[in-house]
Amino acid sequence: MECIFCQIAEGAIPNVTLWEDDETLAFLDIRPLRPGHALVIPKTHAARLADASPASMQAVMATVQRLTPVITQLTGSTDATIAIHDGPAAGQEVPHLHVHIVPRQPGDGGGPIHALFDRRSSVSSEEMHDFAIQVQQLVAQ
Ligand code: 5GP
Ligand code: ZN
Repeated sequence: MECIFCQIAEGAIPNVTLWEDDETLAFLDIRPLRPGHALVIPKTHAARLADASPASMQAVMATVQRLTPVITQLTGSTDATIAIHDGPAAGQEVPHLHVHIVPRQPGDGGGPIHALFDRRSSVSSEEMHDFAIQVQQLVAQ
């Protein structure tokens, strides 16, 4: 079965479009967390972040940046949570990369990313430095 967001990008499934250009589409989430909750996708299928080209991500984030102030203004919000669920363990249900734009305002009942976990992991300074060295080595390859 074809990807649902590819079908939306092709116009085969109706959506409430906010913005469209050659590389990206932005539309309202069908089950909004807040009024104005929008999704921005690359038109070219990428299941998740690692599958998208840097150019595609640049286009997606340019659309996020363009739309966010307009959405917040129109919804009477002051701020926004911008989020990607990168893979199923992180909450990704639709396997086509998408960026959530959720308008936020003080006292709206939502939390920050820190609310994902009740308790924080304990990581020593030494472990952090060891981890950074491993990342620096791998990312340079
Ligand atoms: P995820 O958990 O994968 O990051 O979020 C997927 C989002 O896509 C959900 O917030 C869900 O409400 C939204 N969604 C799923 N199917 C459709 C659809 O057919 N149309 C629209 N507009 N949104 C959808
Ligand atoms: Zn797709």
